[in-house]
This record gives sequence, structure tokens and C-alpha cells, in this order.
Amino acid sequence: MTAPRLEIHLGKISRNARLLVQSLARVGIGVTGVTKAALGSAEIANAILNAGVSGLADSRIENIESMRRAGVRGSMTLLRSPMLSQVGRVVAHADVSFNTELDVISELSSAARKLDRKHGIVLMVELGDLREGIMPGDLAGVVRQTLRFPHVVLEGIGANLACLSGVRPDAKNMAELSALADSVDALIGGTLSLVSGGNSGNLQWALSGAPTGRINDLRLGESVLLGREPLGRNPIHGLHTDAISLVAEVIESKTKPSRPSGEIGETAFGVVGPTHGVGDISQIILALGRQDTDCFGLDAPPGIEILGASSDHIIVNAGDSGLPIGSEVRFQPNYSALVRAMTSPFVSRQFFN
Ligand SMILES: *Cc1c(COP(=O)(O)O)cnc(C)c1O
Repeated sequence: MTAPRLEIHLGKISRNARLLVQSLARVGIGVTGVTKAALGSAEIANAILNAGVSGLADSRIENIESMRRAGVRGSMTLLRSPMLSQVGRVVAHADVSFNTELDVISELSSAARKLDRKHGIVLMVELGDLREGIMPGDLAGVVRQTLRFPHVVLEGIGANLACLSGVRPDAKNMAELSALADSVDALIGGTLSLVSGGNSGNLQWALSGAPTGRINDLRLGESVLLGREPLGRNPIHGLHTDAISLVAEVIESKTKPSRPSGEIGETAFGVVGPTHGVGDISQIILALGRQDTDCFGLDAPPGIEILGASSDHIIVNAGDSGLPIGSEVRFQPNYSALVRAMTSPFVSRQFFN
């Protein structure tokens, strides 16, 4: 078997997505499946689509293009505001994009005219996390301008909390989004079809029994793939947290002192290395490093402790686990480790049903 590799259990991903679709349906919320941690994998995209999500979304047009090339069906939304240099590709391959800038919307409209189609626009609103979003006071003006562009259609509004500053979605900020949706309805003399409340960080709020107001969509990635919510990284009841694991191979196994000898300076990655000692340990080197993943975002099996990592090596204290050369260690990646492993050309993928 090649290593390092990601072992991906598609059935578990699909069951995670289906359970989330079912629980949110009870509170009137649909699910958009977010594939951005999967580098456009058609296998993963189809596993999520089969669970009954309303569509797929990704932050990179390249991933949307590869899913389309692989024949993945379903509507596709670009989650990150399009680069001006990519508007042609965006209107050609994505049905909808999230937007905050009129200059971009104007160019999307021109690009859509050339292809003789209409491109859907979701306007993102800033609700306190300080990543993307139009300031709420500016929303009405942006809506009016957006309606003037002939080849775009205003599909809805959305917000994104939790990701950058860790701001929790709660009754207050979600009520603010609902109120904004009502005000946009009044302005356009109709009803916005999509009010997208946020990401996996919104689950606690959505399933708490609090009124969900106008919010009728959540965009879920981490909870589907890893079965955890991103604000406390707690497992979500009923979901699989082991749908994806990262496997590395042992290339050195020796008894070594736990404390380095010699004068200590900076390491290759700037941080100071370990300086405490607990006598001799069973030190093992795995052929996996910072080029492949976030080594400190890996959950090691019981009895194994990650001591450090460089570009190409993870050093572990193997305790009594007696791992010979050529044997494998299986880790649970967190979101950061998963995204990086998925995008490393050195990490292969093995799919299971
Ligand atoms: C990544 C992303 C999501 C999905 O977030 P998860 O925490 O993985 O569920 C949703 N919306 C936007 C705009 C994103 O960038």
C-alpha cells in the first residue's frame, strides 16, 4: 500500500451528510455540501450529493471545474468572492457565487452576457467575524445596484461567522440576518429564495430549538467530513468522526535519549525544539511532514505521542507499541491537517464504501 495516504470512508461521509440534512430539515433549513477540503474529489462530492443536500459549494473555481469534468451533477456555488481574473471561468462553471464587491458583480454580468446565461449572486453580509461581507448599512445600496446588472440574478443573502475570529452564531446575529432578509424583500418587492446562515459553526444554534427565522440554508463542510463542530471541535452526536484517516509509514525506529545534546538554537521552522528529558524513549520517524499536512493537527493512536515535525519527518514517542520499520500509523486529522493532506501531491487517497 502506498504511504502516506488518506483513507476515506465514503459511506460514513454520506451518512454524516444525511443525518445533518434530516435534523436540519425539521427546523426548515436545507444543507449545501461544502467540498473545499476535498480538492474537487468526485467520489466525495457524489457521496455528499447522494445524501440529499440541495447543492455543492467550494471556495475554489479549480475544484468546481474538476468536479464538473468528472461529471458531478447538482448546482455548484463558489463560496469565495471571485477574482476579477477568473470571472469567465466562474460564470462558465459555477451556477452561483458569493459576492461582496459591485466591481466583481459587474464583471460577472458582462462575462455571463458573453456566454448568454444568467449567473446567480448571493450577497454576503458582515455580522461581526470580520472576514468577508458587506457592512449591513450598505446592503440596500448594493442590492439596488446588483438589480441593475442584466445578466445576474440576486438569489439571496448570507453570512459567515466562526471562521476567522471565532464569533459564535447566536440568536442575536442570526435574527439580524433574518431582519436584513426582510428588508431586502421589501426593497425588491419579492422574497429572496436563499438566506444562508453560515457554516458548521451554526449547527449548535440551528439545532438548539431557537427560532431559525428566515434562515433556510447552512453550508456544511467540516461537520460532514469530520463529524465535529468547529467552535469547540466537539464530536456531533450520531456522526462518524473517523470517516477520514491519514496513514504514515515508519522509516526509523530506535531507542534515543528524549533530550537533545549540544547548544540549542532555532529549528528549521523557527521554534525552539524539546529541551526536557525523561530518559531513553522508543523514538520513531514517520515519512510524513509539514509538506504533507499540519503535523500538529493529527490525533495519534493511544500510546503514541507526536514530539516534533520537520518538512518530511514526524517524530513520535512510540512508548511500548513496538512499531517496526515499514509498519503504519493511522492518525485522525483535524480540519487543518485534512485540508493540507488533501492538497499535498505526496499524499494518495484510498476510498472505501
Ligand atoms: C469553508 C466555508 C464553509 C464551510 O465551513 P465548515 O466549517 O467546513 O462547515 C461555509 N461557508 C463559507 C463561505 C466557507 O468559506
